[in-house]
Amino acid sequence: MTMPHVKLPNGVSVPALGQGTWYMGETAASAKAEVTALQTGIELGMTLIDTAEAYADGGAEKIVGQAIAERRDKLFLVSKVHPQNASAMGLPRACTQSLRRLQTEHIDLYLLHWPGPHPLAETVEAFERLRDAGHIGAWGVSNFDTDDMAALTQLPGGGNCATNQILYNPETRSIEFDLLPWCRSRSMSIMAYSPLGHTGSLLHNPTLTEIGKRHNAIAAQVALAWSIRDGATISIPKSGSLPHVRENAAAARIQLTTEDLAAIDAAYPSPRRKQPLAVL
Ligand code: NDP
Repeated sequence: MTMPHVKLPNGVSVPALGQGTWYMGETAASAKAEVTALQTGIELGMTLIDTAEAYADGGAEKIVGQAIAERRDKLFLVSKVHPQNASAMGLPRACTQSLRRLQTEHIDLYLLHWPGPHPLAETVEAFERLRDAGHIGAWGVSNFDTDDMAALTQLPGGGNCATNQILYNPETRSIEFDLLPWCRSRSMSIMAYSPLGHTGSLLHNPTLTEIGKRHNAIAAQVALAWSIRDGATISIPKSGSLPHVRENAAAARIQLTTEDLAAIDAAYPSPRRKQPLAVL
């Protein structure tokens, strides 16, 4: 199965389907299964892994660290700094700690988890320093609405933002009104988080289930195929279960038809006016 790829603004190509890690590393009992699930996902082409220092208080990064041992060169690692730590002094310190937990010398993409208390210009400068020093490959943001993005790109170095990681799935399409077009017009890829609806709300969705029947697929796979349909979005479903990881990777083969897309539009119309960015 060929995994479609998306090009980041710095020219690096990453798989359109990656793997999320929120709620991993919470208990010792689930650690082994989570490591195995991530490794299986990597073998199936989902070689982009998204994590954050906030997940399980660093526990998710430790799970990723275990999963990637001996595979690091094949992977694209994304982690996120807690906004409280995104200052001139705090950001390099947080990065060092994430690198230690991840057992690597390099984070490929380092994101500001959400807009926070420190001046954005200070955060951008600190990101740029980390990149110039080779500790990170690129930086970006998460949970930034259109006005936040506009303000960011006005700052010195702000135009180097590689991505905005945002909530996006068939039930939550608010970004389509202006944020997605804004990013597209600047050739900036987005990362869709909670592409399965986070709590499983899309897993038995009747519209997606019906479409799935035409592709010999389940609703979750239709949701994932939908999330990467434009060729410029990276989608990061989380799963700690082997069968689910296999299903998620197999979603890369599904080509939704015009009829399928129209059915989703009818059930979940794209917004006709600005709505505030939905966040989790
Ligand atoms: P998802 O939409 O990825 O849904 C995850 C849930 O779906 C889990 O309960 C998982 O259970 C289940 N699941 C996964 N695959 C299948 C399948 N094939 N069949 C049935 N159930 C399935 O939610 P998340 O909120 O975790 O979002 C994905 C990732 O995005 C996060 O893990 C995180 O990395 C990132 N994120 C970033 C945020 C930000 O603020 N930047 C906010 C939220 C998420 P199981 O493990 O048992 O398979």
